[in-house]
Amino acid sequence: MTTLADLQFDNRFADLGDTFSSKVVPDPLSNPRLVVSSADAMALIDLDTSEADSELFTELFSGAKLWSASEPRAMVYSGHQFGVYNPQLGDGRGLLLGEVVNGRGEHWDLHLKGAGSTPYSRMGDGRAVLRSSIREFLASEALPALGIPSSRALCVTVGDDPVYRERQERGAMLLRLAPSHIRFGHFEFFYYTRQHDALRQLIDFTLQTCYPASQQATDPVLDMFNQVLQRTMDMVARWQAYGFCHGVMNTDNMSILGITFDFGPYAFLDEYDAGHICNHSDHEGRYAFNRQPAIAHWNLACLAQALTPYVEVEALKSALATAMPRYQAEYLRLMRARLGWAGEQPEDEELLQQLLQQMQTSASDYHITLRLLAEDDVSARGQFIDRDAFDRWLTQHQARQAADSSALAGRLDCNPVYVLRNYLAQQAITAAEQDDFSEVRRLHQVLRQPFTRQPGQEAYTAPPPDWGRRLEISCSS
Ligand code: AMP
Ligand code: MG
Ligand code: MG
Repeated sequence: MTTLADLQFDNRFADLGDTFSSKVVPDPLSNPRLVVSSADAMALIDLDTSEADSELFTELFSGAKLWSASEPRAMVYSGHQFGVYNPQLGDGRGLLLGEVVNGRGEHWDLHLKGAGSTPYSRMGDGRAVLRSSIREFLASEALPALGIPSSRALCVTVGDDPVYRERQERGAMLLRLAPSHIRFGHFEFFYYTRQHDALRQLIDFTLQTCYPASQQATDPVLDMFNQVLQRTMDMVARWQAYGFCHGVMNTDNMSILGITFDFGPYAFLDEYDAGHICNHSDHEGRYAFNRQPAIAHWNLACLAQALTPYVEVEALKSALATAMPRYQAEYLRLMRARLGWAGEQPEDEELLQQLLQQMQTSASDYHITLRLLAEDDVSARGQFIDRDAFDRWLTQHQARQAADSSALAGRLDCNPVYVLRNYLAQQAITAAEQDDFSEVRRLHQVLRQPFTRQPGQEAYTAPPPDWGRRLEISCSS
């Protein structure tokens, strides 16, 4: 374990120079306070938990202080937003502070979000509000606990600075951790600006830092693309299996590591609704829950396009053709595990669809229903309107389980009791906006172990109260 002062930096991305990022120093928050920190995220960079109590911690993560070895940079990228190419994006309010190397030799990017304006801020103020910083913090730590790959969050700080969105809010900062902050949009930027030397440099950098094993392949770039594709489709399979809607799957929000990245108006489902649109600004439902796998495939095609100077088009097309089958197989595998179905049977897909269809018509709570089924609790029946239809399904389900009981034991370990529902995040935000950070801290602790019933935490298992159903969350953050 180490202290803040002893963190070791190795700023490989900064070393790529000004073609890839711009030097910018953070614009600190005034009167900063620590809202919440994650001991699990601190452990990733070997930080002793007690470091979060120090004044230095709050200073470093509110932009007031910098390590001498830190080289803060705003990265340039572009991307397809809602299907339309935007030639100029980039870190408009976040800075890569540097790359920390932990005791296992792993590099972790420290990225401070809400750190002030940059050359890529366009019309924005460079700030992030407390509300969206708390939402990103909670999701960044809740998803990995569910087994969903994601960027991580070390902490949130808040200041007195007023920030104007639909109403006046307060400026906050989130310290995001990820092994890389390279997005699909990075490759698109250099491809569409025809900077092919820089594109090649970026590809080589990504191979070295993120996909070293691909360097040994006959076609390293194609091999890397296949790895990205597989990780991305496996990640989306987990989103679908656990009822997570990302909300803004623009290519600039797609990580080259295939991890969940850039949390905006995301939501976990409450009632099962295949077509749920969590982003209030997504009028056409481009990023509706059931469109996520197809959108991931579309985004991978954008990445493939940017790689065409270096890989045969036909090879990329063949790779892309494997995306949806990969997703289907992985999704079914996850759902079989959730339902306690061992092995693979031809009727599995149909049986699963019947359950989902019944949940859709009954507006069953997605998480509660699956957990009750995993607990063999007959009250799962109460989640359905047409009880006879459910009973018929249950008979088939039980027969499917009985054929081989080897998968039954693992069911409780893959059906969460606690899920980061929008209303739970909202309760924590409402309190935090009144300077009471106890609720965000409590909720974060509960979500660290989502599969284990925790004494005294029953309230967190409840479906949303009336006020918490269909909360309108927009892109504004
Ligand atoms: P997002 O919707 O968070 O993925 O952001 C899309 C783009 O807008 C990125 O380039 C962000 O850096 C930029 N952006 C978002 N909010 C702000 C802001 N308040 N100030 C400056 N840039 C922003
Ligand atoms: Mg973004
Ligand atoms: Mg964002």
